[in-house]
This record gives sequence, C-alpha cells and structure tokens, in this order.
Amino acid sequence: KSCNITIFGGGNGAHVLSGLSSDVVNANVTVVDTFQDEAERWTKAMAANGFTVKYGNGKDLVQAPGKPKFTVTKEVQKNVEKADVVILCMPAFLHEMVLTSVAPYVPETCPIVGLPGQPGFEYQALFHLRQNGKKGSVMSIETLPWACRIAKYGQEVDVIGTKECIYFSSVDQQSSGYVGAGLVQLIQTLLGAKPVLKREENIIKYTFLYRPTVHPPLMYAKWKNWDGKPLDAAPLFYQGADEEAVKYLDGATNEMIKIADFLQTKYPDMDFSGISSMQDCFIGEYPEQIKDKSTLLSCLKTNQAYDGLVHPMKKTDDGKFVPDFKYRYLMEDVPYGLLIIKQIAEMAGVATPIIDEIILWAQTKLDAEYLKDGKLCFVDRKHGRIPMAFGIKTLEEFVNYCK
Ligand code: NAD
Repeated sequence: KSCNITIFGGGNGAHVLSGLSSDVVNANVTVVDTFQDEAERWTKAMAANGFTVKYGNGKDLVQAPGKPKFTVTKEVQKNVEKADVVILCMPAFLHEMVLTSVAPYVPETCPIVGLPGQPGFEYQALFHLRQNGKKGSVMSIETLPWACRIAKYGQEVDVIGTKECIYFSSVDQQSSGYVGAGLVQLIQTLLGAKPVLKREENIIKYTFLYRPTVHPPLMYAKWKNWDGKPLDAAPLFYQGADEEAVKYLDGATNEMIKIADFLQTKYPDMDFSGISSMQDCFIGEYPEQIKDKSTLLSCLKTNQAYDGLVHPMKKTDDGKFVPDFKYRYLMEDVPYGLLIIKQIAEMAGVATPIIDEIILWAQTKLDAEYLKDGKLCFVDRKHGRIPMAFGIKTLEEFVNYCK
C-alpha cells in the first residue's frame, strides 16, 4: 500500500531526504516549502534539469528531467491532512512556526518526525498536539544523517558524508498507523542502510547526547576578548583551538557529566551511562582521522576531518572578516541546546558556573536575556525551547511529559 510522506523544509537536508525517500517503492512524497519562492524555484529547476543526490562515488541517485518522483508545494493543510507521516527537516528555530501550522490538521494516526529534532523537539511537538486536543506520536532524531550542501537549488545536492549511527527518542501514543517499531522501520527504509537508527529511552540522556557543549564553548573562547577589529582571514574553528578553548570545552562537558552522575544517583533505574569526556567523544567519532589522540587539544588540532573548517564569519565591505554570532553555532546550540542543559541542572540543583559564563556572553551576542541573577528567566517559545516555556518545571514533569 502506498504511504503519503509530507516533508517540511527546503534546505540542504530536505533536498537529500526528498530524493532518497521518493526513490522508495510505494512512497508518495510531497515537500512543503513555504519559504519565499523556494517551492516555485525547486519545481521549475527539477522539471527542466531533473534531480540528483550526489555521493561522489559514482552511485548517484538521479531522477530524469520532467519525471520527478515528488512534488514541491506551499500548500500546508491538504498535504498534512492526507499524510501518513510528517517529517520536519530544517533548522530548529523554524520548528515552532511549522508545528503551529501542522498541529491543527495532522491526523491522530500520523506521527510527527523531527529529522533532525534536536533537544526538546518531543515536548514542543507534544505541546502543539495537546493544544489541539490531540494524542499523536513524535519521533526526534538527534542530528541530520548527512553532511550535505545544495550544489544547485532544486536540482542537485552533494552528500559529503553519512553518519554510521544516530540516536532518536520517541513518544508512541497512536493506536494505529506508523508507530513504534513500524515507524522506525519506515524511517530507516527512507534513509537506507546508514545511518542505523538507535533508540534512546531516557529523554534526559538523549538531550545530553546532542552535546551542545561543543560549538558555544569554542565560540566563547575565541571571541570573548575580541577587540572588534576585522580580521584578514577566517580563523580555523577546531584546529585553531588553544588551551583556553580546552578549558571551556572540557569545563562545560564535565558539568554536563556532573549533572548526569547526580541524576544517576537520584534515579538508579534510569540509564545515564556512556556520556563520555569530550576527548573520548571525539576519539569515538573520528577513530581514523585523529592523528594524535594524547590530549583533547591534540585531538582538535590533528583531526583531518576538520581540515579547512573555519569560524563562521561575515565579510566586510573592504574584504575583511568579522565573526557571525547569528550562525547556528550560537543561534541553535544555545537556545535549542545549552539552555535545556541549564534548566536540567537547575531542576537537579547542580551548579554550572562554566556553562553560565558561556550563556551570559552568548546572550549579549544573540540580543536575548536567558540568565538573570544566576537563574534562567527565558520563556519565549518562538526563539528557544526551554522546558519551562512549555510548562515543565521539575525533572518528574520533564520525564512524564514525554511518556
Ligand atoms: P539549511 O540551512 O539548509 O536550511 C535553510 C532552509 O530553511 C531554507 O532553504 C528555507 O527552506 C528554510 N528557512 C530558512 N529561514 C527561514 C525562515 N525565516 N522562514 C521559513 N523558512 C526558512 O538547513 P540544513 O543544512 O538542511 O540543516 C537542517 C538542520 O540540520 C539544522 O539544524 C542544521 O544545524 C543541522 N545539520 C546540518 C548539517 C548539514 O550538513 N547541512 C549537518 C548536521 C546537522
């Protein structure tokens, strides 16, 4: 039987996902892209030139001009009402807007999948379903399965790398349709053999595994004392790290481990194992590419996977560079990551001086106020995803909300 898949998004990930999923037998794929004129541009480009997902190994996925296997539209209601599964494939700051537009129309037999969902997607999606009096299912996949970039809009996307394994968390509340193992199997079929989807049962640990303690500490260490003068070139992001960067990277991560240890003692039945140090985490992720594994700093400096990766910068009129503080390293990883860790720490009663220091700096760059007098005070659902913005104030409420 055919399966109606409605994908929301229009960026790099949405391009790969649309190509892969529409190639699956019986998958009837519609992409809903409401941003500017993207739906129109994508439709035109695909009709004239076909659609290609490029892997660079000769095994590209090619759809011929004039014979696209999926459609791209701006129409929300109709495509949500008929969906067997709705997948959001976009940066986290767009989730609130899209979930608000999806929840009134989504059938209770249709799960909502965040691909990626990133921390907090479960309770945000459940919040919108409940606002509409619905009891649906939600699946949140930790990250995008691929490193990918659009080469030609609506026409060609490059897959630079595919992850081996990624975690997801899910809340299974449907009585029929794709739910539980059936939903996992469907999403795995759409993605192909890799990455392998692995379920993480503990919602709090799932939040830690995303590790928002990488990008913000590196940004903070590099730019906290910046004199405001433009630079001649963009500095290396990972390989340009120094002892100061290590101090904050390790410091923030160790605070997260401290919270996990505390929670393990408080909730012996929940599994908090495997939240490793930053050094072990990098070694686990890049066993071949890191040449000198002796210290965290050497892991950063000698990882070939990081060759050429620079700080996010904006070009000035005279061709120089200034840091882009509105890039996802702060804009996503603080309000959709570090702040959630911070609230978990507050709820557990664990102090996090280093994470606080990073947040206090980041909030000035993001024109927001998250921390005031040492306490979280941010409840704006449109610009972040802190549990308390969804009425969750204790650890018990957090765990129970997502059951
Ligand atoms: P992207 O940067 O390509 O998303 C851009 C798209 O988002 C636009 O094309 C548009 O469709 C939509 N958009 C942007 N601003 C909008 C607005 N104001 N209103 C409505 N729509 C708007 O995203 P991506 O690269 O596909 O990444 C998706 C998520 O996956 C992000 O959270 C990203 O951090 C994460 N991620 C990406 C990669 C990668 O290699 N691309 C790797 C790992 C994780």
